Amino acid sequence: MKYLIIFGPPGAGKGTQSLLLTKKFNLKHISTGELLRKEIVKGTDIGIMAKALIDRGNFVDDSVVIEMISREISRVGPEVKGFIFDGFPRTISQAEAFDSLLEEHNKAEVTLVLSLEVSDTDLVERIRKRARVEGRKDDSSIETITKRIKTYHNKTEPLIAYYKRKGKYIPVKGELSVEEIFANICNIVEEIKDEQ
Ligand code: ADP
Repeated sequence: MKYLIIFGPPGAGKGTQSLLLTKKFNLKHISTGELLRKEIVKGTDIGIMAKALIDRGNFVDDSVVIEMISREISRVGPEVKGFIFDGFPRTISQAEAFDSLLEEHNKAEVTLVLSLEVSDTDLVERIRKRARVEGRKDDSSIETITKRIKTYHNKTEPLIAYYKRKGKYIPVKGELSVEEIFANICNIVEEIKDEQ
């Protein structure tokens, strides 16, 4: 089983690349942002709590997100060859909890972290464009977008050093076309396939 993390700031293209990877390598895509948006649509307790935080550009509590991940990795059919985690982990404490979860439940560890590198100016442009297409509330104001990018630098970027130390971090140029980025990622994923 592969446990791939697609990493990068908001708007880097993680969702787009995840969907392409899912199809090509029979992976299950687990996006914490998408799972939370589903809870919001359903109006569950988690959804109500998450909406207030997400709309303002804040993170949802680690415990909620880790519970969702735990549930999702235990629900897979035999055709699934691995997972692609998108938007998770987002903090060092989530990464540590994730390591324990994989070790205890799956006797496994994170395979690789594919990190999409995009400059802050490009991110703002892309998110504003996405706002017009998808209409997400957290994409609609420049203040919320800027806050999310700032939070990424403060809370999520420390994960780069965390995974570098473990030898799992792979930077990927994120300012190319969708197809070029995908081709580069495929080369990386195909290499690990042979080893496992
Ligand atoms: P983006 O990649 O543009 O930030 P996501 O769909 O990944 O969009 O996430 C949207 C929002 O959902 C985040 O801004 C955050 O509020 C919440 N969220 C998603 N994943 C997590 C997580 N792992 N921990 C805490 N909050 C999260």
